[in-house]
Amino acid sequence: MARFSSLVKPASQDLLHLRVVRTERLSPHWIRITLGGGDIGRFTPMGYDQWFRIFLPLGGDEGLERIPAKANKILGYVKYLRIPDGMRPVMRNYTVRAYRAAGADGGPEIDVDFVLHGSGPSAGPASRWASAASPGESVVIIDEGLGFNPDRGVDRVVLVADETGAPAVAGVCASLPATATGVALVEASSADDVLEIDAPAGVEVRWLVRPQGAKPGSAALDALRALDLPASPFHAFVVGEQSLPTTARRELVARGVDKGAISFMGYWRVGAASPTPKSQVAAGGAH
Ligand SMILES: Cc1cc2nc3c(=O)[nH]c(=O)nc-3n(C[C@H](O)[C@H](O)[C@H](O)COP(=O)(O)OP(=O)(O)OC[C@H]3O[C@@H](n4cnc5c(N)ncnc54)[C@H](O)[C@@H]3O)c2cc1C
Repeated sequence: MARFSSLVKPASQDLLHLRVVRTERLSPHWIRITLGGGDIGRFTPMGYDQWFRIFLPLGGDEGLERIPAKANKILGYVKYLRIPDGMRPVMRNYTVRAYRAAGADGGPEIDVDFVLHGSGPSAGPASRWASAASPGESVVIIDEGLGFNPDRGVDRVVLVADETGAPAVAGVCASLPATATGVALVEASSADDVLEIDAPAGVEVRWLVRPQGAKPGSAALDALRALDLPASPFHAFVVGEQSLPTTARRELVARGVDKGAISFMGYWRVGAASPTPKSQVAAGGAH
C-alpha cells in the first residue's frame, strides 16, 4: 500500500472503546455511522482527513476486550493475530467525516461515512457490518492522525479522490481557511451517491459519476488529466483505489509538480481485502 509520505501524528494512539449512537442511510451506497459514548472524551479531533483504525466485533464483544494496546504496531499486531479465529475483530481504516463537541444535543460524536460495496458474501466485512450496525454496538478505534499535512499548503489545493476518499476530501474542505482556492475532483459510483460537500467559496467541488463497469478511480483520473492545474505552488492530495493515487502522482510529477507537494495514499485495492500496512506485512499478517 502506498504510504502517506508526510503524516501528522495523532495526539494519542490509545485504544478507544466507542458505541454506535445512530445510523443514517445517506444514499444507495453510503451509510453514516455516528460513534460516541465510552472513551470519546479522550478523542482529540484534528480536522482535515483524520483517519483511524477501527476494530469491528464480528466475533462478539469479547474479541474487542482482547485487542492489545498498539494493535496498529508490529508487536501489538502479532498479539492481535493471536486472538482466536472467529473471535478476532476485523480491523479496517476509516476517516472522521465530522466531529461534534459536546453540546445541548449530546456528543461528543464522530460521523463515519462507509461506502457500501458489493452484495452478499462479495461485500467486505466492514461494508457488511456498517449496513447492519445498530445503536449500542461496540467498536474500538485507534487514532492515526492526518495524511494531509497542512504544512504543505492550505492556500491552494487540488484534491482528488474516489468515493472512499470523499469523507477525507470533505474533512479537508471543512478545515481549509475560507480564503483557500482550488478544486476537488471526487468520484461517485452513481449519480444518486453524490453527496453535499461544504468548501470555501474559492474551492470548486466537482463530482464525477463513474460510468458503469469503469475502473474505480478512472473518472477522477480522467478529470485530473483534463484539468488546467493552478499556478504552483499548490498542495495536491490524492487518495482512493490504489491505481488512482499512484498514477495521478506519476502524472502530476511529469507535469512539473514538486513531489514534496503531493500527499497520496492507496485506500483500497480492487480484488484484495483491506491492504495490510507495510509494518504489519513484516509480521506476516493479513486481515
Ligand atoms: C486512511 C484511509 C481512510 C479511509 N477512509 C474511508 C472512509 O471514510 N469510508 C470508506 O468507505 N472507506 C474508507 N477507506 C477505505 C476502506 O478502508 C476500504 O474500502 C476497505 O477495504 C473496506 O473494507 P471491507 O471489509 O468492506 O472490504 P475488504 O475486506 O477490505 O475487501 C473485500 C473486497 O471488497 C473490495 N472493496 C473494498 N473496498 C471497496 C470499495 N470501496 N468499493 C468496491 N470494492 C471494494 C476489495 O477489493 C475486495 O475484493 C479508507 C482507507 C484508508 C487507508
